[in-house]
Amino acid sequence: MFKECCAPIDTLHLAIYNFKRSWMSNLISVDDALARILAHIEPLEAERVPLLDALDRVLTEDVIADSNIPPFDNSAMDGYAVVAADTQSPPVTLRVIGEIAAGATCSDICVTSGSAIRIMTGAPMPAGADAVVRFEQTSESDHVGAHGRAPLRRDSVDVFTTICAGDNVRRAGEDVSCGAVVLHAGALMRPQEIGMCAALGHSRVNVHRKPRVAILATGDELVGVDEPIGAGKIRNVNEWTIAALVLRYGGLPLCLGIARDTIEHLKTKVEEGLALRPDLMLTSAGVSVGDFDIVKDVLASEGRMEFWSVAIKPGKPMAFGHINAVPLIGLPGNPVAAMVSFEQFVRPALLKMAGHRNWRKPTVTAIADEAIENSGRRNYVRAVVRRCAGEYRVRTSGEQGSGVLTSMVRANGLLIVPEGISHIHVGDHVEVQILDWMFEM
Ligand code: AMP
Ligand code: MG
Repeated sequence: MFKECCAPIDTLHLAIYNFKRSWMSNLISVDDALARILAHIEPLEAERVPLLDALDRVLTEDVIADSNIPPFDNSAMDGYAVVAADTQSPPVTLRVIGEIAAGATCSDICVTSGSAIRIMTGAPMPAGADAVVRFEQTSESDHVGAHGRAPLRRDSVDVFTTICAGDNVRRAGEDVSCGAVVLHAGALMRPQEIGMCAALGHSRVNVHRKPRVAILATGDELVGVDEPIGAGKIRNVNEWTIAALVLRYGGLPLCLGIARDTIEHLKTKVEEGLALRPDLMLTSAGVSVGDFDIVKDVLASEGRMEFWSVAIKPGKPMAFGHINAVPLIGLPGNPVAAMVSFEQFVRPALLKMAGHRNWRKPTVTAIADEAIENSGRRNYVRAVVRRCAGEYRVRTSGEQGSGVLTSMVRANGLLIVPEGISHIHVGDHVEVQILDWMFEM
């Protein structure tokens, strides 16, 4: 906060001082900022994609089974298909009348009382048989044990156990019955949903389109990752972290490179970005109150701008608005502040665009192993969480300056100090966002 002792001495300074004061008092909460961003974000339309491209995306339609799974009655074990009633008084010797492998058909063969068919896991149940007795419960187990492999054909088999009708048989449709809605619109496509679609013969599915995200770093001090660093220059970190986060949360990053700190160049780069038809534009830096912080000026002159100071640490300065109806989030410049703001504001926007219905970051409750002081803003403290004797314990991962990347690299979580809380004591229960957990259950 600005102290009265720094009070202005002439008209220009008075104007700047008043602007900064009004900006400071324009502090909004993290929840308010997020709600205001999300109010402008809608799920994107559907596209039909090859099944594997649907991974981690959200279905836009119900998937209805047009066949049974499994499609036919089949054996759940390697063994003998029998009439269960024959096994009431074991041991019993049955005549072996054939063999059925997985993938074979067996319409020409029928089990009757006193006979059995050697059958492999997944092979169709022959007519007449109502159960399968496992090899291990027959005389064949001796051969498996002694020689590693049973003889291919035998004329009879001894069954040592009583089994019931239905034992070791997978009934047609017992997993999915034809006509059932197996996946609902809005479902997240995890590997198991991909498998379900494959089982039903769907090689393409309809999912929400991926958000196209234009990324623009701003700053005269920035050089590209391959360029030599001249005097006063630093490498453009934010383009990389932001692009990586966009990818991680299911977006398509469109990297625009670096805009210099002039209105003209920034406008040119923004236009370049708009030509790529993004669903969202992200900038980094230039949203604070320095002399060359011009992102908000360009937003205001070229589009509609809401410029906020958010009660968050790190990452207080932030811009949000629209240019040509494209939402734009102006992230702070310090690399960790940009990442933390991305997690809190951009990630939910991306997930909402991609059709997710829950965009909360997964958290755990952990016990603080270290005391933490706080200014009063909601503070996302880089931290290391570990599981210890059935509970989570957490401590900071190092120096917390908003540009210090090493503590971010060491961190696996962001410990949340709620707004208004000035002190976390050792032993307090705290919420920690787990950085690498993608979706909340
Ligand atoms: P600004 O908001 O423009 O005052 O930037 C705040 C701090 O973030 C300054 O120290 C910048 O040099 C730094 N910064 C801005 N953009 C980037 C970037 N793309 N990569 C790394 N650091 C940056
Ligand atoms: Mg700058």
